[in-house]
Amino acid sequence: MSGILGVYSDKQVSKELYYGIYSMQHRGQESCGIAIYDEEAKEVVYKKEKGLVGDAFKEDELKNYKGNLGIAHVRSSSVGHNHVANTQPFVGSCRNRNLAIVDNGSLVNANYLRETLEEEGFMFQTNSDAEVILHILARYYKGDIVEAVKVTMDYIKGSYTLAIICDDSLVAVRDPHGFRSLLLGKKGNEYLIASENSAIEILGGEVIRDVEPGEIIVIKDGELKSYNYSDTYKPVKKSCIFEHVYIARNDATLDDLNAYEFRINCGAYLAKNEDVKADCVVPVPDSGWASAIGYANESGLQLSEGLVKNRYVGRTFIKPTQEEREIAVRIKLNPLVPAIKGKSIILVDDSIVRGTTSKQLIKSLKEAGAKEVHLRITSPPVKYPCYYGIDTPTRESLLAASHSVEEMREYIGCDTLKFISIEGMKEAAKGMNTFCTSCFDGDYPVRKIDK
Ligand code: AMP
Repeated sequence: MSGILGVYSDKQVSKELYYGIYSMQHRGQESCGIAIYDEEAKEVVYKKEKGLVGDAFKEDELKNYKGNLGIAHVRSSSVGHNHVANTQPFVGSCRNRNLAIVDNGSLVNANYLRETLEEEGFMFQTNSDAEVILHILARYYKGDIVEAVKVTMDYIKGSYTLAIICDDSLVAVRDPHGFRSLLLGKKGNEYLIASENSAIEILGGEVIRDVEPGEIIVIKDGELKSYNYSDTYKPVKKSCIFEHVYIARNDATLDDLNAYEFRINCGAYLAKNEDVKADCVVPVPDSGWASAIGYANESGLQLSEGLVKNRYVGRTFIKPTQEEREIAVRIKLNPLVPAIKGKSIILVDDSIVRGTTSKQLIKSLKEAGAKEVHLRITSPPVKYPCYYGIDTPTRESLLAASHSVEEMREYIGCDTLKFISIEGMKEAAKGMNTFCTSCFDGDYPVRKIDK
């Protein structure tokens, strides 16, 4: 999972890129980078580093990155792919043109394309999709970037959102299903492209609209032009519901759905269908907060901060070993004894993947004196891996793939366990039918091609 940003301005953009990706830090804490086209030098200047945005860049060095158009990226780690070489943007040149690219998504045929290109003599330095995309783009770029992007889109399958520098043009692309979010914003004469509206809004811009599935946007000479990937192929929107379940910030409005409202609705839906009498509602911070508010409002139960979160710990989900994952949960969340001792609590969290977080939390809440813990999950059981960019593990490691709800309850150690249904989740999403729910129902809009 990543966050991407593109800024086209009549002023130097380095600070905006920096602040913009800072606001999307939750989308990736492994590494970050910026690339800027310097019109005077006719070259792309860039910097990419492992680590958090605030650590990787010093604010006063940003003035050295000259240029009015740029792209930026934050990246989350996935096991085995956290080498510094995978850090984006990727920068290259081809037929005397400068190209640079950032991507958020996951191709279902990246290995196939990589092998095909390798047979033709291409060499790769990373295992990133973006490098594959950049090679294909460069190969078909003969002076018309829109044509090159269209041909590239014929080859690449699955999910992608791209921001590309092609000399003095900024290009934005969203795959034909719109799996991953991408928004277009404006601030005076400036155009902004971002994975989440927070980046546009904190820069003082205004969101104009979502980039459409299959849309190619080119901004050049201060003018924006929009193209369709194909005039005959009709894209079917399948944007990721998991963005609203967990990934995006509460203030995100992606594809006409606000994450906070959705989360509130999910909590309220669970409360409406409740048959347990409890003393209070406790969110698992931070992602459980909005749903716990929705639950408390609907049920009339008191909302309690029963778990204290260590603010200095990021998203700890992807640790290589089970032991490290368990320690990570303990460091991150600690029970607040006066709020839970002797109480029967409704604990609200967004999802169960491996079950590590929930199991660990129930144990510590019980040890801290909670009488009963009734776990309520605001997404359906995650039974299928995501092929489109959410880092869920293989099917074997997904608890719900091999356990019934009762078996999960027993494993986790809570008194009762309930998930929102797929129908409930769709109702909470205002009945919109434009979401990919494949991690819950196995209904994959694009077939996985790679083994
Ligand atoms: P697990 O401990 O494996 O059951 O993971 C579930 C917890 O991790 C939930 O509380 C979520 O808040 C969080 N989570 C779920 N999916 C992801 C993901 N793809 N990346 C990072 N964190 C996640």
